[in-house]
Amino acid sequence: MTNAPEPCKTCGSATKITTLGSFRGEQGPVVVIVNGMPALVCDQGHKRFLYPGFADRLMDFVADAEKVAPQPPAARRGWFRKRYHCNGCDAELPAVPTKKSECVLDASFENAAPFKVVVQVALYKCEGCGREQVLTNEEVARCAPEAVAHGIRAEDIHTDR
Ligand SMILES: [Zn+2]
Ligand SMILES: [Zn+2]
Repeated sequence: MTNAPEPCKTCGSATKITTLGSFRGEQGPVVVIVNGMPALVCDQGHKRFLYPGFADRLMDFVADAEKVAPQPPAARRGWFRKRYHCNGCDAELPAVPTKKSECVLDASFENAAPFKVVVQVALYKCEGCGREQVLTNEEVARCAPEAVAHGIRAEDIHTDR
């Protein structure tokens, strides 16, 4: 990082490294909330990631289901209609989630002040043994980066590719 960040690519105003508040995105069973991420913000309020690749890094950061969701996931059965069974007692799980898990990750990316990323995932509670679990790691891994992308769009943070 240099002391004088490059000017805003949208309007040409001076930018400075600013800590953003909180932004969130949701996709399928996953909600991602990004708290205090540093970004380049200009005098007109245009926001840009600190450097190229930062957004990809943020999406990759949440894409590991084993890191962001309680383990193990439910067991999947059935060929035509997928059914999910408890990973503990094998009872079929209810159709709707009962609550969300919450995992707080410390994001320490190079050349950036550390910030927090909260990942919430829908949990299904077994009516047999009470165990709470996610349905599949694949779905979590697919949806978490998409949730981040939705959050980036909602917060209107520009990316350099
Ligand atoms: Zn600007
Ligand atoms: Zn069970």
